[in-house]
Amino acid sequence: MNKCYICGKDENELLSFGKEGDPLIGNFEGQKLVKIYRALYEGPDIQKYEDILDELIIQDGGGDNIKELEDKFGLEEVDKAFNYDQAKNTVGSSWECRDCIIK
Ligand SMILES: [Zn+2]
Repeated sequence: MNKCYICGKDENELLSFGKEGDPLIGNFEGQKLVKIYRALYEGPDIQKYEDILDELIIQDGGGDNIKELEDKFGLEEVDKAFNYDQAKNTVGSSWECRDCIIK
């Protein structure tokens, strides 16, 4: 059974897409779910993690200042900042319904 990744509604409950320009470029008439690509995290920037990432220095030789950041911000916060950064930069595929794509 196919479901929308975002709202979780079953394909049977969804309205199908209309003709070209509704709301996507291309003609998806009659389809209920469309595969799109988006970052795993698309929310607003989280300033406290941005601050940690701003101070991160990775040298060409492989050295970094992660240890210092952990001392300054705490192991857990640094870890979360890295996960946040990764989610922002990782694009995954997602099957979504019309309502979720329009939003
Ligand atoms: Zn949906």
